[in-house]
Amino acid sequence: MLRLVDSIPVSREVDVLVVGGGPAGTAAALAAARGGARTLVVEQFNCLGGVATSGGHGHISRYSEGGTERQVVGGIADEIARRVVASGFGIRNPHGIWFEIEGLKLLLEEMAGEAGVDLLYHSFFCDTVVEDGKAVGAVVQNKGGRNVILAKRIIDCTGDGDVAFRAGCPFEKGRESDGKCQPVTLMFTIGGVEWDKVAAWRKDWWMKETWEKAQRAGDMRPYQKVIMGWWWTPTRPDQVGVNFTHVTHVDSTSAEDLTRATIEARKQAYETIEVYRKYVPGMERCHIVSTPSTVGIRESRRILGDAVLTEDDLKTQREFEDAICYGSFFVDIHCIDGPGMDKTAWRPPSGFKYQIPYRIMLPRGVENLLTAGRCVSCTHLALGSIRVMVTCIAMGEAAGTAAAMSLEGGVTPRGLDIARLRSRLRGHGAILSEQDIVEWGHGRT
Ligand SMILES: Cc1cc2nc3c(=O)[nH]c(=O)nc-3n(C[C@H](O)[C@H](O)[C@H](O)COP(=O)(O)OP(=O)(O)OC[C@H]3O[C@@H](n4cnc5c(N)ncnc54)[C@H](O)[C@@H]3O)c2cc1C
Repeated sequence: MLRLVDSIPVSREVDVLVVGGGPAGTAAALAAARGGARTLVVEQFNCLGGVATSGGHGHISRYSEGGTERQVVGGIADEIARRVVASGFGIRNPHGIWFEIEGLKLLLEEMAGEAGVDLLYHSFFCDTVVEDGKAVGAVVQNKGGRNVILAKRIIDCTGDGDVAFRAGCPFEKGRESDGKCQPVTLMFTIGGVEWDKVAAWRKDWWMKETWEKAQRAGDMRPYQKVIMGWWWTPTRPDQVGVNFTHVTHVDSTSAEDLTRATIEARKQAYETIEVYRKYVPGMERCHIVSTPSTVGIRESRRILGDAVLTEDDLKTQREFEDAICYGSFFVDIHCIDGPGMDKTAWRPPSGFKYQIPYRIMLPRGVENLLTAGRCVSCTHLALGSIRVMVTCIAMGEAAGTAAAMSLEGGVTPRGLDIARLRSRLRGHGAILSEQDIVEWGHGRT
């Protein structure tokens, strides 16, 4: 007989359900499946990678300590970097990887296949089934209708914390003073670029004077005043991924806001290439190759956990007994009310790195549920750093490993022996503390 939960049919039962196949979700699924758990990823789009792929972003950072070349992230993040290079899809330096987006999609699916991860694309998570304070399943909507996937452990890697939110977990959103979030950006890829000329011309990263000149001449609306990133790799020499559009005051949990932001950002992208053609040597004949499936979201719900990582923890480089990885990116806050960077962005000194405690991935009030990636428990400013992809991958690996180990040991993720978790992560090449750190080029290239 067909099993029903609240009159919705049950389509599958798995050990670990990962909701969202972005950097955090991909790593969580790989780690859980490698740990012996029957693992399924539910993803609304048609690929793994999240912002890196369906968000159109061809760059992942940051592997190294601030200002040095010491590697502070290993494990699955390092494996992805090595395989991107080995497969000819991109390049790597001590700080990050630059890659072809289509290549990364293929590579992540290969890795999932090898690990035995099941994938379910074109499926939108819409509700959490909670019984006696435990997350036991997820309601998913797809072409087959509405169905329930039952799971012994669920890892929320939706970026927006959708699963934990629907389970009733407490959360915060945006900056503490008014709840407003960082702007969103529609990445886009341009072709027809002569990169050598561009590289020879550009004097600095931001190129502020160029956009100011264009705006004074009436060639550009003031949606942006600095370049946030031109991502180039020699594997697609005439193309550049552009991080430039900026739409403020968007709540990514509102479909209306996302629609408005997408329409405005696509308009900005087309306006931007006119400016590039006129003002940037080497881009005279550039054209739009693609805009991605979704605007990139920098900030939304932060699901409150057993610990909350704060900017003070980052700035004092606080150590934690339950550290599961390091973060090392600067506190990257884009201006919340206009173009450019926010005055609260913080550039750390050389040697910057901070430990991330396991407890920020344990949502309050519900068992058998973990979070990983952008939706973990932290403050608005701490999120400015922790949200970068390498850090999300490292958190995902820890969450997936913990989910599988908790099943193996018959305990809840909250009841897991942290020393054993840390030892398992280390065994897989993760970097958790000073003793694990290696110099670039010594063992991890
Ligand atoms: C414009 C921009 C530029 C950035 N630049 C950099 C950079 O240079 N370097 C860097 O390392 N990081 C960068 N970041 C940060 C980084 O990309 C994100 O913070 C990171 O991808 C978060 O990872 P995640 O796995 O938590 O979430 P995401 O990457 O957002 O992945 C979440 C996944 O969950 C899926 N999902 C969400 N909700 C549902 C649902 N209800 N049902 C089914 N699936 C769902 C999404 O489709 C997506 O695949 C940038 C971010 C943006 C937006």
